Amino acid sequence: MLETTIIFLIGLFVGSFLNVLADRLPREESVIKGRSHCEKCKRIIKWNDLIPLLSFLMLKGKCRYCYTRISFYYPIVEVVTGALFALVVIFVSQESIMHEALSIRYVWELFYYLFIVSSLIVIFFADLKHGIIPDKIIFPAVITSFLYQIFNAQYSIPSYLFSAIGACLFFLFLYLVTKGRGMGFGDVKFAFLMGLILGFPNIVVGLYVAFLTGAVAGCILIIWKKKKIFGTSIPFGPFLALGTLVAIFYGKILMQSVFYLVSL
Ligand SMILES: [Zn+2]
Repeated sequence: MLETTIIFLIGLFVGSFLNVLADRLPREESVIKGRSHCEKCKRIIKWNDLIPLLSFLMLKGKCRYCYTRISFYYPIVEVVTGALFALVVIFVSQESIMHEALSIRYVWELFYYLFIVSSLIVIFFADLKHGIIPDKIIFPAVITSFLYQIFNAQYSIPSYLFSAIGACLFFLFLYLVTKGRGMGFGDVKFAFLMGLILGFPNIVVGLYVAFLTGAVAGCILIIWKKKKIFGTSIPFGPFLALGTLVAIFYGKILMQSVFYLVSL
């Protein structure tokens, strides 16, 4: 319980850094140089106004100087990161109980999933806000996942490689058929990463959830006639990121319940 609370608080701070990545990487700005500033009045934000969640609540969601509204995205990303970090700790400890907890393996798995979850959060919000899935997130995540699966999966490594190549080819096909209007090339690269993270058959769960939630959201937006706020098309990256997260944490349970229902 204490462990989960601490990791939630760490997640809040990591989340405020993920906000910076999700905003600056699509604009190709430096993520290290340039202090955080108000988008409107350009004033540098002091450290005591940069405390995750608390500062947003204290300032009632407004800039200290010009009172311009601060985007709700910032506290949302922080809380989502905190909650998902807590979920990772619970998930990894359950998994390691089943595999007779080896402490080194536990730490290794914990850091891998914290890194992957952070990458997925940046992809989700970078694509939602700016319509771009940054290569600077995709490539490190692909390399990390590849190395992790080599050490972790060993004999089932072909399952991960074939899932990655299969998902990538499927999205390349969609990309070519829709001439890049339905899918961006970022989605093609992201599909490869998804396969590496999930393997077979979990990749099917991830893609199914992505297409299902994407279709539902698409219908809702068409009914509300708000489709144009996203430009010509709705970005698909957020749904892929959501599908990946659901498959990581609940893939096994979902597959077991489907098999159970089929066997009835
Ligand atoms: Zn301001």
